[in-house]
Amino acid sequence: MTDYSPKYKSGFVAVIGKPNVGKSTFMNRMLGEKLSIVSPKPQTTRHQIKGILSGEDHQIVFLDTPGFLEPRYELQQKMMDYIKISLKDADLLVFITDAHRFPTDYDLQMLELIAKTPVPAIAILNKIDLVVPEIAEKKLQLLKKESFLELHSVSLLHDSTTTSLIQNILKYIPYNPPYYNPDEVSDLPIKFFVQEIIREKIFIAFRDEIPYCSTVVVEVYNDFPNKVDIAANIWLERKTQKIIIIGKGGEKIKAIRIAAEKEIHKILGKRVKLQLWVKVKSDWRNKKNALKEFGYK
Ligand code: GDP
Ligand code: MG
Repeated sequence: MTDYSPKYKSGFVAVIGKPNVGKSTFMNRMLGEKLSIVSPKPQTTRHQIKGILSGEDHQIVFLDTPGFLEPRYELQQKMMDYIKISLKDADLLVFITDAHRFPTDYDLQMLELIAKTPVPAIAILNKIDLVVPEIAEKKLQLLKKESFLELHSVSLLHDSTTTSLIQNILKYIPYNPPYYNPDEVSDLPIKFFVQEIIREKIFIAFRDEIPYCSTVVVEVYNDFPNKVDIAANIWLERKTQKIIIIGKGGEKIKAIRIAAEKEIHKILGKRVKLQLWVKVKSDWRNKKNALKEFGYK
């Protein structure tokens, strides 16, 4: 392991906010690439994706916590727990809200949660391009009543505020050697990314039951100059789900594979060969060890 300067900073940043406020856009801004999926479907970010920003003297690990979902979804309690877990690990909390919609009931619930945590917090009032300045100002005043250390009103989609945001975040990151070996970080995001794409395609294909009891793990990722070979397991809870996801004559899983290959190809710019295996581990959501194995804490 290399020696790191005592000036090296490393820490965890939890990004929280209602679905659709721009959390993924924020992450992508920070990381300079399309890492977590930006999509109008809030449910697609379920994993606690770690986007890792490495600089010469800093490494910021972003925890993209899932938003609260509608109560009808079974995993809601789990997600609340994730939010609490990532708050526990975090050196800084970034609360993102939508200037057009703030304050929703949901925002208020989160503010309540934030008020109770000892973690330093900053707030980003996003999508100010969607409201007139007077409205943005009014919402900013509402946020001022909370205990945020900093408030930023921005349009993450249109402004180029990335550098100053990173500098602001770094103020709250402690002096620490990197948590992740910078040499190993490089291929980590792409695997997460591939998993997210496959999961999104499953979500699009099934909408309801399946995505909430599925998880995707990339087992093989072989990068060649003009192509990439990927093999991934899709883990499900029950045999019946396996039958559904494979479809008649394998047509469903084939459609998922082709859609995922297309999207991965668009990003990598090379030929993609994807193999998908559907596997069953009964009741994985309730088994601590299984959750750990799949990267859930
Ligand atoms: P998440 O669910 O919180 O991760 O939200 P996303 O980052 O996926 O963004 C949800 C939608 O809002 C996407 O269509 C984004 O392009 C859009 N969006 C994000 N930031 C802005 C912004 O500053 N202005 C506008 N008009 N749209 C934005
Ligand atoms: Mg998202």
